Amino acid sequence: MDRRVLLSLLSIGAAQALIGCSAHAAPSDSAVRGPDIAPTAPTTAASASATASVAPIAAAVPGADAGPLPSPVPIPAPHPGPAVVVSHAPGRTRQIALTIDDGYDATTVAGYVAFAQRSKIPITFSPNGAYRGVWDRHAEVLRPLVEAGQLQIGNHTWTHKNLLHETDAAIRADIEKNEQWIQRTFGITSRPWFRPPYGAHNHHVDGLAGELGYTRILLWDGSFGDSTLITPEQLVGLARQYLQPGTIMLGHANHQTVLGLFDQIEQLIEQRQLEPVTLDTMFGTSRAVG
Ligand SMILES: [Zn+2]
Repeated sequence: MDRRVLLSLLSIGAAQALIGCSAHAAPSDSAVRGPDIAPTAPTTAASASATASVAPIAAAVPGADAGPLPSPVPIPAPHPGPAVVVSHAPGRTRQIALTIDDGYDATTVAGYVAFAQRSKIPITFSPNGAYRGVWDRHAEVLRPLVEAGQLQIGNHTWTHKNLLHETDAAIRADIEKNEQWIQRTFGITSRPWFRPPYGAHNHHVDGLAGELGYTRILLWDGSFGDSTLITPEQLVGLARQYLQPGTIMLGHANHQTVLGLFDQIEQLIEQRQLEPVTLDTMFGTSRAVG
């Protein structure tokens, strides 16, 4: 962890901002909070794959038919292996990765979809299939952006449970069910990217994910802090604090605070000459390989 991030973490309130998604019960259900798990320190750059191959994107435009559309890129078989935890870009870079999770608020998801369309900014979404009622209506709009490589989809489980409290069979099923939905809905695999709900993971969970082909355990080192409802001033303050070269930024499509702030966030990225990228671009992974 570099000195700037360390200092940021030590500042009052920063640890709160780095908490992963809170429990997804109704906002009034404040008793069901997720554990306050800080992200682990970034691993070394060894997590970066040396290969940066990008699959050629088929030119075929999917039809407007309802139902699953054919994938322009064949879904690759899983490549099981040891899982590596990542929370920061490898090497010196001006890249940042915007990673947006969950999606239980329909208005916020719609706002992010419109933002992606308008801004052309690369984003990695890690939606839970449990909220498919919110996401599926956007599939037709999102798929071309996914196919073009602007958007990437990570696996965040179907149900968003704390995996430290689940059986091995339940963990596998939760990941696999979400993958099947992602393939049907977005036309790509989420492998090798897995973001554990609440950032709650250990070597055992990582090992299970790795056996399924999720060999990149995605944490973060910056956050908009919007796993719970915060004010626009708080969110902008966290954006200013954490949008720095190399940051993997965590946000949530759960609360509408961010909706009025997209222009400010975009300006901040431009002013700081940051380069938003997907995880595939940042780490040299590829949906064609999985
Ligand atoms: Zn989450």
